[in-house]
Amino acid sequence: MIDILNESIENLVSSIQSGSLKSVDLVDFYIDRINKFKEYNAVIEIFDDARDLALEMDKKIANGFKGKLAGIPIIIKDNILYENHKASCASKMLENFVSPFNSTVVDKLLKEGAIILGRANMDEFAMGSSTETSFYGKTLNALDKSRVPGGSSGGSAVAVALNLCPVALGTDTGGSVRQPASFNGIIGLKPSYGRVSRYGIVAYGSSLDQVGVLAKNTDDTKLIFNIISGHSENDMTSSKNEVKDSLDSVVENLKIGVPVEIKEMIKGMPCENAFYSLINQLKNLNCENAFYSLINQLKNLNCEIVDVSLPNIKLVLPTYYIIATAEATSNLARFDGVKYTYRSKDSKSLEEVYLKSRSEGFGEEVKRRIMLGNYVLSSGYYDAYYKKAKSLQNELKNEFKSALKNVDLILLPTTKGEAYKLGEKTNPIDSYREDIFTVSANITSLPAISVPYMKGEHNMPFGMQFIANYFEENKLFKISEIVEKLAKN
Ligand code: GLN
Repeated sequence: MIDILNESIENLVSSIQSGSLKSVDLVDFYIDRINKFKEYNAVIEIFDDARDLALEMDKKIANGFKGKLAGIPIIIKDNILYENHKASCASKMLENFVSPFNSTVVDKLLKEGAIILGRANMDEFAMGSSTETSFYGKTLNALDKSRVPGGSSGGSAVAVALNLCPVALGTDTGGSVRQPASFNGIIGLKPSYGRVSRYGIVAYGSSLDQVGVLAKNTDDTKLIFNIISGHSENDMTSSKNEVKDSLDSVVENLKIGVPVEIKEMIKGMPCENAFYSLINQLKNLNCENAFYSLINQLKNLNCEIVDVSLPNIKLVLPTYYIIATAEATSNLARFDGVKYTYRSKDSKSLEEVYLKSRSEGFGEEVKRRIMLGNYVLSSGYYDAYYKKAKSLQNELKNEFKSALKNVDLILLPTTKGEAYKLGEKTNPIDSYREDIFTVSANITSLPAISVPYMKGEHNMPFGMQFIANYFEENKLFKISEIVEKLAKN
């Protein structure tokens, strides 16, 4: 009998295709585990048609159907649309919303024979770094129940780390795939902007959002990435660039850039205003050790390590929070109590429908983001905040572009260190600061991966992050394989 928990997806598919494993048995196996680990609150709903679809899939396979995911159960984040199934963004606002259509990513998974098993918990509307803002309550870290799982794709990460499914999809606007992957000891990939269609993904920051993969190993990550990538007629921002066949090609002699500014940042260089004071905290973080020890190991593997400079990287966090909230404000305007959302029972006029439905339907963090977004876009402050952030975004894109002319990859930590305690970061600014290393990839549209690398003082894992040039995910997979091996030693 195949060891389900330790097999790659490719091997599970081979067993299913050969008839030695049934999709329905796999689905039953994972449903049992989801029920056993209920207290973690990683999965909001197991779809009640999953088992029947698996039975049907077994019949199709017996009749000759072949697919790269034939019979494989997959969990999706609660902001990814699946026809005739609920997608609530973990919000009261969309508690009863049933999607009338499939997102492109779900279509692509289904075409390869996947079974969509259920939807994962998340921070409400993907706003957060700890999955504590969900309408359905918090999710617990897979490795320590007293700690946060990261967010916003915390449910997806915990589902993979606890083996509640072989692989899960999340979304990453500012780190929401990579950061929870880091906190739960798994791999998290954010593809290049435009590589994966956003059609059918509930938008948070449209120019930053990408669907990402949370998986246990590089091979599974690569497989799913390959399947969900590609141009889609329904998303004008999805790229027409072909998904490279070079995914399997060997990338030799990686040259890795280490931003001198990051060295400074993790040493805790003093900063001039409040926003940068968080950089001081970096001095004593356990990611500093991991960062340098990884550099040494890579040097011994003939990876060339050079300094690169990204002068404005210290400004990336405020840049992100201005752009993301500005876009969120506009995207969330559609949830108005009139169409497909929650509607307040005691509203007596149209104005009250808007006001009360939005006041009651959105949680605190979402309302904070809407306020912030409106503020930075308002006529008096537009130039001071939004316009400035957009011009900084251009600067940052140019800086990364020129750094990546000389190197294959840029190395950054993913998180400051291990997962922190549940309830520890009640001040929203503290939570925003958690994203210091992840938002660059979204602001620049570049692809990035987080690979588990080290354990911290509480024996909790955390990851290291690599950023590649546009559409060079193949280099991310290469380095991910290398770090996977290093981390085991
Ligand atoms: N933590 C970040 C935020 O709250 C990123 C969220 C995300 O990537 N969806 O905006």
